[in-house]
Amino acid sequence: MGIQIHPDNAATDPSIATEPAGRQALSHKPKKKFLRRRARDHSQKLRLGFQAAFLLLNVWVGGQFYLWVRQFEVPGSAFSVSRPAGVEGWLPIGGLMNLKYWLETGTVPTIHPAAMFLLLAFLSIAFLFRRAFCSWLCPVGTISEYLWRLGRRIGNFRLPSWLDVPLRGLKYLLLGFFLWAVAGMSPEAIASFMHTPYGLIADVKMLNFFRFMGTVGFVVLGVLVIASLFVQNFWCRYLCPYGALLGLVSLASPLRIRRNRDACIDCAKCAKACPAWLPVDRLNRVRSAECTGCLECVAVCPAEGALTLSLPERLQSKSKQNGMPAWAMAAGIALLFLGLVGFAKTAGHWNSHIPNAVYQRLIPHANEATHPMP
Ligand code: SF4
Ligand code: SF4
Repeated sequence: MGIQIHPDNAATDPSIATEPAGRQALSHKPKKKFLRRRARDHSQKLRLGFQAAFLLLNVWVGGQFYLWVRQFEVPGSAFSVSRPAGVEGWLPIGGLMNLKYWLETGTVPTIHPAAMFLLLAFLSIAFLFRRAFCSWLCPVGTISEYLWRLGRRIGNFRLPSWLDVPLRGLKYLLLGFFLWAVAGMSPEAIASFMHTPYGLIADVKMLNFFRFMGTVGFVVLGVLVIASLFVQNFWCRYLCPYGALLGLVSLASPLRIRRNRDACIDCAKCAKACPAWLPVDRLNRVRSAECTGCLECVAVCPAEGALTLSLPERLQSKSKQNGMPAWAMAAGIALLFLGLVGFAKTAGHWNSHIPNAVYQRLIPHANEATHPMP
């Protein structure tokens, strides 16, 4: 079963801008002139390329990190593998703590600084290109998307709005909890946390969570996988606090999906294609924090100039080409990601300043390092 259009979305999502009531009457007017789009759309090929590249990058970083950890676990290892700091992309709370530390002290933290630079890169991407991290880069988002595509063979469904809306609130509750916990920490408390055995090897603890997953972990993961087969982007839509944070930042973005009512032929293909279940065909602009900037709506739109990712009219140039092409969005995402990572590396702020002797002491006993907070 494919995705249906859900008019009640507009009523339940306050961030959705609906059209004036008088617009309803337009459906009785004669059909508009249909100007078929001529240029071919490459946005989904580009997005797929980014998803595949980022997934591979994560597999590579994860594999190298595992080999690096094994060097400390196996006596007599040659220590030929270096630690890939990019693994700190999986420490978003550490990134948030370090960001607070940096903002309050003006000093770049020395433990897990890459977590902060990666968070900054993804926040900047969200500010400019909506939640593009979720639909272009995040490996969990990619796996979620393809699980749902697989699930289409069995039969997907969507939850009724009385359940969907409160469930969507869960990710904001989780985000609120983490923000509250980090906001309550002073820079001194953050520095002291980072220098505890747990803080120093938080990345190893994360790896070991997946390596030595208990029954509860397996059951939870299994439930999430099965739920993702049936409900589109189950984890991202309902539970991911990272997506919630990026969605809130994206509300400030000047770039939005905008619909030109004069060019639109009201075919509703955009709403059917939208993975966030937004009623794109009834909006002038998509303001929702759920929009992931995937451009699937733009890709399926058959009418010339009806749907674009663009700036508000007052910021647009007088030239006729006002929509942002997919290649420009792709280039912008790559530039922000590579630019911030490159800057951190060049400035010497990419790697944690932890001597091998400390790792040698802590990693073989990683399971004994407990969270210092109650
Ligand atoms: S299909 Fe369009 S409106 Fe829906 S999430 Fe993707 S970019 Fe946003
Ligand atoms: S896909 Fe959406 S924006 Fe494009 S013509 Fe159809 S209803 Fe209008």
